[in-house]
Amino acid sequence: KKLGFAIVGLGKFAQEQMMPAFKDCKHARITALVSGSPDKAKKLAAEYGVEAKSIYSYDNFDSIKDNPAVDVVYIVLPVGLHAEYTVRAAKAGKHVLTEKPMANTPEDCQKMIDACKKANVKLMVAYRAQYEPFNLDAIARIRKGELGKVMQITADHGRIVDPTGDKADTWRIQKKLAGGGSLMDLGIYSLNATRYLTGEEPVEVTALEMSDKADPRFKEVEDRIHFTLRFPSGILATCTSSYSTEGVKRYRVFGDKAWLDLDPATDYYKHNMTIGDKDGERKISLKEGNQFAAELDHMAECVLQNKTPKTPGEEGLKDIRLIMAIYEAARTGKKVKV
Ligand code: NAD
Repeated sequence: KKLGFAIVGLGKFAQEQMMPAFKDCKHARITALVSGSPDKAKKLAAEYGVEAKSIYSYDNFDSIKDNPAVDVVYIVLPVGLHAEYTVRAAKAGKHVLTEKPMANTPEDCQKMIDACKKANVKLMVAYRAQYEPFNLDAIARIRKGELGKVMQITADHGRIVDPTGDKADTWRIQKKLAGGGSLMDLGIYSLNATRYLTGEEPVEVTALEMSDKADPRFKEVEDRIHFTLRFPSGILATCTSSYSTEGVKRYRVFGDKAWLDLDPATDYYKHNMTIGDKDGERKISLKEGNQFAAELDHMAECVLQNKTPKTPGEEGLKDIRLIMAIYEAARTGKKVKV
């Protein structure tokens, strides 16, 4: 059985990655569109076979409650709008899949969790890397002890943010819509990875930030932020996040027997794993999978089988709490306990 998904926000990521991925889904299909642009919605509705009566604007979105073809609302709006649309979707009795980062603040995340609990609907955060084969393989190897005892992790995520060249970057430099800068958008991949790779929750963070306030891009949000995390077992992680350096999306996990490198680690289509030890390095070949379709199918399966998603609202909230601690550490120059 295929559940019906309403796509809220027909921007770059929705159009270029997520909507095309539905063709590879076993349990999910697009049955409604929500957009502020009627022409764009009409064109995409024709392309994806969505009925005209299932096109909504942001104003009449709440009437989606009367549409039985919609089971799940997938929110692909700027971060600052995730909370409002999650609450409205829950009130309409629809299950919610929301993009990462979950929301601007822990308070907003909690509101989303509470609204979905109250409405008895599922809430999942779209952490695609947790549905991607190379990342899942890395986790499995670590759990099996292939690296020995994990001692440390380094993780880097960055790219050049450029609102003059990419319309999708316009909201990313506005605090109200983005919640913050590179850490919210990209550093979250490093942060989330340290948590799923270790299976532990950090207890202490430190951070340094560097943003050129004369650069119009960084008037409201941060550019570079480096942070370190201490985990209960003694693992240390060092992460970097940047909006002013050429694209990077990688991590390396160091054990007392071997290391595992994934570079890229969180690309859309391409992953590269290397494992090294005292005898040398070897490339790991694995088949690339459609992480977007896997994520959408997981959401649908959770609804169909009444299961809690692997990346529920609580998972999103944990990262946003840690992000706030990282910002505090950067601001005060002090270690922050979490
Ligand atoms: P985008 O700007 O291309 O898309 C956002 C859409 O929201 C646009 O269609 C825009 O018209 C619409 N919108 C509605 N109300 C708006 C308002 N008040 N202000 C601005 N835009 C408004 O951005 P995007 O890159 O597609 O990102 C959308 C979401 O997807 C974000 O939450 C982002 O973090 C997430 N994202 C996730 C990934 C991933 O790999 N999981 C990748 C890219 C983006």
